Amino acid sequence: VHSSESRSAVGDSSKSAYARERKVVPGGSMRAASWFQPNPPYAARGEGCWVIDIDGRRLLDCANNFFSLIHGHAYAPVLDAVRGAMTKGTAFGMPTESEILLAEALAARNPRMEQTRFCNSGTEAVLAAIKGARGLTGRHRIAKFEGCYHGAYDWVEVSLDPTPANWDDENGNPASVRCNAGTPDTVLRDVVVLPYDDPQRCADILRREGTSLAAVIVDPHASRAGTVPMSRETASVIQEACRRDGIILIADEVISFRLSYEGASPLFGLEPDLITTAKIIGGGLPIGAVSGRANLMAVFDHSAGKPKVSMGGTFSANPLSMAAGLTSLEHYSRPVVDRLNSLGDLLRTRIGKGFADAGVAATVTGMGSLFRVHVGPGKVTGYRSAFPTSEAGNLIRRIQLAMLDENVLLTPNCSGALSSPMTEVEVSAIADKLVRVVRREL
Ligand code: PLP
Repeated sequence: VHSSESRSAVGDSSKSAYARERKVVPGGSMRAASWFQPNPPYAARGEGCWVIDIDGRRLLDCANNFFSLIHGHAYAPVLDAVRGAMTKGTAFGMPTESEILLAEALAARNPRMEQTRFCNSGTEAVLAAIKGARGLTGRHRIAKFEGCYHGAYDWVEVSLDPTPANWDDENGNPASVRCNAGTPDTVLRDVVVLPYDDPQRCADILRREGTSLAAVIVDPHASRAGTVPMSRETASVIQEACRRDGIILIADEVISFRLSYEGASPLFGLEPDLITTAKIIGGGLPIGAVSGRANLMAVFDHSAGKPKVSMGGTFSANPLSMAAGLTSLEHYSRPVVDRLNSLGDLLRTRIGKGFADAGVAATVTGMGSLFRVHVGPGKVTGYRSAFPTSEAGNLIRRIQLAMLDENVLLTPNCSGALSSPMTEVEVSAIADKLVRVVRREL
């Protein structure tokens, strides 16, 4: 690991790129510049688990384009597949056989993904799944978990980052909190918010609201809400409520699909009606997908004329994303899933032991190839316990930037994802550097 390479502040080329971009892009950078205040590094190219910025700095990449690159950057089999597809044309106003192959690959991994419709992002997939649930149930309200991210759709951008002052409403239930200026009150009224780590309260809320709901959307290993697995108890509360009240259970596995060969739901005993995926199933190209059993996916069936619910788009199932996704999934075989998950276990064990040996009040959470560092003495079980005080938030930010100085790229909340080019060498480097940095900063 290139620890001796150029360190510290972002280089001059990235600084001038950011200054130039801010003139034509509000805030500069379409890639969450606030991650790297005062100045993000600009990527020049990627190579396996490394990204090289325009100043020539090599960063060990745990962000993996928001966890979408399971095989790291410029993975040769994916590049070959995309080149092969590209020479035949980039998009057609006709179906291509490539979409059959990717839909078949998903169905082969999980029988609950018997049928699929593709789109271009996780946000679109969530939006379409909610529309599908409404079409199936004739209801329009939905329930989501506090602090959980499901994309940039205003119906799910509710109670995303509530602060303690607005966690609860006057009845003591998690409040529906606006995330964007201008989200209508009607949306807030029609989004029921559930606690991630309180099965009893969850059951009570669902008993009261269940029959008015079209969908419960859940990511059982929610990254933003703590990167902590949902308890089996909470999962079974939702499952039972959905069965009892005829609610469509949507498992949003946009990130968590990577947790097993079949995806996340089976690990939690969940039997979702619809599953949304994106990120790794596109092999690094834009993608989203809604999958489910044929009887439910029939809601999108347009073969006999107008579908009950429409789901289409100019670049949906474009052959480049299909080719990249298929190759990426073929290479994410059971042994590769297992190897990556074991590396994740090793990483979390080493970080946890390092924190314990150093006596620092910090913990590591996660599952499979996903991890996140939290500061503070308490156990993290969900959004509220993962929600940092402003002091802890500043510390997390300092740790993320200090890791950048150590040439390791994490996300702003100090989380990361491993990719298949990584080995024990990289995992040891990440763990050692994190422990060193946390020790220093705490
Ligand atoms: N759902 C979950 C669970 C996500 O983590 C994300 C993105 O991080 C999305 C949906 C939205 O996906 P996209 O960024 O592809 O629109």
